[in-house]
Amino acid sequence: MTPPLIDPFARAIEYLRVSVTDRCDFRCAYCMSENMTFLPKKQLLTLEELDRLCTAFVRLGVRKLRITGGEPLVRRGIMGFFEGMSRHLGQGLHEITLTTNGSQLDRFARSLWDAGVRRVNVSLDTLDPDKFKAITRWGSLEKVRRGIDAAQAAGLRVKINAVALKGFNEDELFDLVEWCARGDMDLTFIEVMPMGDMGDAGADGADGTLRLDQYWPLEDLRARLAERFTLTDLPLKTGGPARYVRLEETGQQVGFITPLTHNFCESCNRVRLTCTGELFMCLGQEDNADLRAVLRGSQDDDVLERAIRDAIARKPKGHDFDYSRSRADGQMSRHMSHTGG
Ligand code: SAM
Ligand code: SF4
Repeated sequence: MTPPLIDPFARAIEYLRVSVTDRCDFRCAYCMSENMTFLPKKQLLTLEELDRLCTAFVRLGVRKLRITGGEPLVRRGIMGFFEGMSRHLGQGLHEITLTTNGSQLDRFARSLWDAGVRRVNVSLDTLDPDKFKAITRWGSLEKVRRGIDAAQAAGLRVKINAVALKGFNEDELFDLVEWCARGDMDLTFIEVMPMGDMGDAGADGADGTLRLDQYWPLEDLRARLAERFTLTDLPLKTGGPARYVRLEETGQQVGFITPLTHNFCESCNRVRLTCTGELFMCLGQEDNADLRAVLRGSQDDDVLERAIRDAIARKPKGHDFDYSRSRADGQMSRHMSHTGG
């Protein structure tokens, strides 16, 4: 049997997040600029390369795959990739899931279910159609809501991810919570992160402010929730930056993702693959391994597995985000749409 992937700090790597494209049909103000330049197609891993690489990770003990982007569902042929990966379900792989902006879910919900996907995360920051347009620039709230309905009709469990933005969705905190409770959806808030060179980020967004001004600490958000609900901390440990509470009045689960704090590195069980085949061992650090070169340089899976093991051996103990040291236009030079969040 192949020995599992264990990093130098004795953490088993069981979770792979894969960005399958840097392209997107939205232009969220905190994520990319409106005139974003995408990578030439030949730099992206082909669907066959993605399959070979993910299959190697499953052989090495990865139990959970999360497909992300850019917008994963705008990549041509992506459903074939999901169908292909479904052969590993129950054969080492426990779960395939995705994070999506929801714009294509009405088309693909059924096929995702057929490929063994059971849960999806849909990113949605506001329930106001005009604000939705302002923050996503190109998105339609109505279409996303149709997508969520289609996902639920197909049997998929939907979780909503909302980026907490000061002065933008602060006033919708309770509306979002109640809307999710009515729709039987869990809800997770994400603290905004300093990623990528945003150029004019947010300039034509909700109120024209930059992301650093939009930083809404989740501690503050949580305190506001506690004014209306009784919050019970849940011991649910995902190995990631999310912490969960139950709202006793609704029974609903609400999560908080605070990537800027260090409180989760000890249990970190994940690595991230970009759409160009770089493996990032930590979201907050620049060190990465070029697995595309390995994939294209050899058809030998032993060579590939060795390269993956060598990369995991470099996984750092913790990350290094710090707003105080960041430039206003973002500390990390890569975009979330490249790394996949
Ligand atoms: N396009 C898909 C979507 O929006 O769900 C998947 C990719 S997107 C990069 C993944 C997640 O990252 C989304 O929930 C998005 O809101 C979040 N995100 C993007 N930029 C962010 C930032 N600067 N800070 C925090 N979260 C961010
Ligand atoms: Fe696209 Fe997701 Fe980035 Fe929005 S957050 S621009 S939907 S990749």
